[in-house]
Amino acid sequence: MTFYINEEQMEDYLFKIVLIGDSAVGKSNLLARFARDEFYSNSKSTIGVEFQTQKIDIEGKEIKAQIWDTAGQERFRAVTSAYYRGAVGALLVYDISRRQTFDSIGRWLNELHTHSDMNVVTILVGNKSDLKDAREVSTAEGKVLAEAQGLFFMETSALDSSNVSAAFQTVVKEIYNILSRKVI
Ligand code: GDP
Ligand code: MG
Repeated sequence: MTFYINEEQMEDYLFKIVLIGDSAVGKSNLLARFARDEFYSNSKSTIGVEFQTQKIDIEGKEIKAQIWDTAGQERFRAVTSAYYRGAVGALLVYDISRRQTFDSIGRWLNELHTHSDMNVVTILVGNKSDLKDAREVSTAEGKVLAEAQGLFFMETSALDSSNVSAAFQTVVKEIYNILSRKVI
């Protein structure tokens, strides 16, 4: 990242975070679970929501994150550059029960790098960890890819809440650390 802000400014600063990944991997439900502690068994949650502002506690400070969700346009591979503009963080999501969504990660990373003007703090998220019997992508594979690409990594479940807050918090905390020049 190319600029630094002091601790006071940090509390007024809005961290733009984008959710990306193939259709139906659970992006909208991760946001619904994180922001409202809700879950939708159909894909209704995708429609209409543009972004949600959420306060996140980092080391006793209230950080405001503006989390962007796609309105389903990823179905047509048509996520616009406006979606990425100004993003400082990203959750790159696949579905551990659908290998095809894991195979798309490279394409999403390319798109992120093409459209964003700074080094976006990114976490690779293997969602639907509750679907144990349907797993097609192992935890180890996710880890290896994340390490190779320099990404954080976590498996989550929007259904049972596992690691959902942790995933968002990991990104926000890292941005916070970079912006405040803290060495971790
Ligand atoms: P999006 O298209 O990436 O926004 O995906 P949605 O959030 O709309 O979810 C797509 C479908 O997957 C919906 O039927 C959700 O109920 C389901 N889903 C989302 N997250 C999970 C999860 O963690 N576990 C399970 N079992 N289903 C999920
Ligand atoms: Mg959606």
